[in-house]
Amino acid sequence: MKKRIIISGGGIAGLTAALLLQKQGHDVTVLERAQAFTRAGYLLSLKNFGVSIMEELHLAGSLHQAATPSEYMDFVDVQGNLIRRISYRKMNEGMDSSITLTRGELHHNLHQAVADKITIRMATSIDSVRQEAHQVSVTLTTTETLEADLLIIAEGLRSTTRPLCFADSQLEDFNVFYVGGRLKKEHPYSVGSFKTYIGVNQMLSIYPISGDELAVQCYLYQTQEVSSLRQKARQLLEQTFQNYSADVQTLMVDLIESGLVFADKMGMVQAPCLVQGRVLLLGDAGYCPTALSGMGASLSIYGAKALAHFIADSPDDLSQALFRYNAVMQPIAKKFQGNARANAASFLPKDESSLQAFAASFRNASESEAHRRLTDQIILTPQQLSFTLN
Ligand SMILES: Cc1cc2nc3c(=O)[nH]c(=O)nc-3n(C[C@H](O)[C@H](O)[C@H](O)COP(=O)(O)OP(=O)(O)OC[C@H]3O[C@@H](n4cnc5c(N)ncnc54)[C@H](O)[C@@H]3O)c2cc1C
Repeated sequence: MKKRIIISGGGIAGLTAALLLQKQGHDVTVLERAQAFTRAGYLLSLKNFGVSIMEELHLAGSLHQAATPSEYMDFVDVQGNLIRRISYRKMNEGMDSSITLTRGELHHNLHQAVADKITIRMATSIDSVRQEAHQVSVTLTTTETLEADLLIIAEGLRSTTRPLCFADSQLEDFNVFYVGGRLKKEHPYSVGSFKTYIGVNQMLSIYPISGDELAVQCYLYQTQEVSSLRQKARQLLEQTFQNYSADVQTLMVDLIESGLVFADKMGMVQAPCLVQGRVLLLGDAGYCPTALSGMGASLSIYGAKALAHFIADSPDDLSQALFRYNAVMQPIAKKFQGNARANAASFLPKDESSLQAFAASFRNASESEAHRRLTDQIILTPQQLSFTLN
């Protein structure tokens, strides 16, 4: 049965859900707070099942075209000594090869695929939500009221509608400040070979995108509020990287001078249930695993696919579909959030002895063990891939 579906948040999760649900014939309206979308942003890597779902949506080809070449990731210490080189080709054997691109490019491709098939209302947010029987009605900040059979909250980590409907959900501060941007400059690095520096409470990734462009992303353990961290981002970067090699120091100065593209703090969302009546949480809004899982975008896409799958499977029983969506997503959210915590301990070690222990075990691991450590984090079970519930 055709349903009226409102999706609040036109990001990766929201637009993937919109694309899948309009294909099923539902009437989809997306509410987006931003005035306009941007193609910029941080680099992310879509992996494994995230790539397979994009293939099913016939978007993988254009995403590959927009991608940054990715061949190797060198993990090095603060002095630049190699801890471990990872070959993406070898690591991803037997899986769809990952796609490294800006969040903006991924978003742009989703937007292009869906924009003329649904209504997208820009500069629009929800002010209040009311549920009655099998209906949900939302009042917008414009005071207009809309009614629907289902409201999907896909507003990302700092969703403002989530606390209105999910009083028991929590936004946990992950105490990692991430800062970065892109730099147009000639550089000595080879394109496709990424470099990640690991130090106590700090990680720095350098991505040579082309002969004259680099993307830089830093992750720093910081407990202060994001607003005060943003104010002193420049000073923080200068201090943090003062003991690095001269080329890294110059890079950081250039990055600061050219203006940072993003600076924010990571958070993790805990929602004991992703569904309340006819309202549900999707993507980072419901189960953000932080950037340290490396899987947030793929999980947003998977969540959208799972939801669309269950709605198609129970066309006359939306409550059943939403129940199953929650049941399939909860253990997955737990697993990927657990991975992010483990990655924080490894890649942002709290002290020198943890750093040394991690570096030694990663350096000495066999190739298959090193790959297993990284790829175990990006797989779902065959049951999860086929949305089978026990
Ligand atoms: C530095 C960094 C690196 C990352 N690297 C990776 C990676 O390598 N691999 C990976 O898979 N993931 C990665 N991620 C995570 C990934 O970007 C997110 O998981 C993904 O973007 C989540 O999608 P989303 O649609 O849930 O939220 P978002 O992409 O945040 O989109 C939310 C949308 O909702 C809109 N919105 C917000 N509030 C409202 C409101 N009140 N009303 C209406 N609209 C609203 C926003 O404007 C936005 O358009 C990384 C994240 C960061 C920060």
